[in-house]
Amino acid sequence: MLSLQALPAFTDNYIWALSDENGKAILVDPGQAGPVLKAVAEGLAPIAILLTHHHNDHIGGVGELLDHFEIPVYAPVDERIPRATHRVGEGDRVRIDALGIEFEVLPVPGHTLSHVAYHGGGYLFCGDTLFSLGCGRLFEGTPGQMLASLDRLAALPGETLVCCGHEYTQSNARFAAAAEPENRLRDIRLAEVAAMRAHGRPSVPSSMASERDCNPFLRVDQPAIKSALRSRGLVGDDRDQSFAALRSWKDAFAA
Ligand SMILES: [Zn+2]
Repeated sequence: MLSLQALPAFTDNYIWALSDENGKAILVDPGQAGPVLKAVAEGLAPIAILLTHHHNDHIGGVGELLDHFEIPVYAPVDERIPRATHRVGEGDRVRIDALGIEFEVLPVPGHTLSHVAYHGGGYLFCGDTLFSLGCGRLFEGTPGQMLASLDRLAALPGETLVCCGHEYTQSNARFAAAAEPENRLRDIRLAEVAAMRAHGRPSVPSSMASERDCNPFLRVDQPAIKSALRSRGLVGDDRDQSFAALRSWKDAFAA
């Protein structure tokens, strides 16, 4: 039986720790060492690190952790990620024997070009590609690449736990309500999120089924979202263009 913890880092990052009953843990995206070392003092024993992409708030703690623990570091092929011991890409599987779990590596370009996600044991570690009720900004990829990446993630089983890199759910919700004013399931999810946040608990992981029901970036084919985009000047029915318009609307909305 594994247990999942979201260790808060910086202002709104989560470092995921998936551990067994003895505390042996896989760490995902340790942008800082401090929160991990604090958990270590309480019994966590890191045995592997998985990295999704090169941004410092996801990899910045790796060097210091490797001073304390001699453990494998899995990462995509990208020289901007210096301390990896195993490079992974399409078709690769990461097996962590001590926890009896295996992840498939899913390349998900968009936020960055070399971004990967790890899917296994009912968990999806997706970094800054898919957030609850949102998706990552397009720093390097095209809208078409990001949409294809999100389509791939959205096709995973509904019960998959979406373990994303940031606590952005409530701010994403404001945009979701503009993009799709009427969505009863989203409103129910938001009420739950408000209660969790009020108690200081993370709003994630969510389930993939919930994201398919509530996240506007997985719903570009929905008539209500298409109509919102048309009212903002989008012409035609091209999915990539719809997604591009939705993403740039959100960029301006957040600013
Ligand atoms: Zn990032």
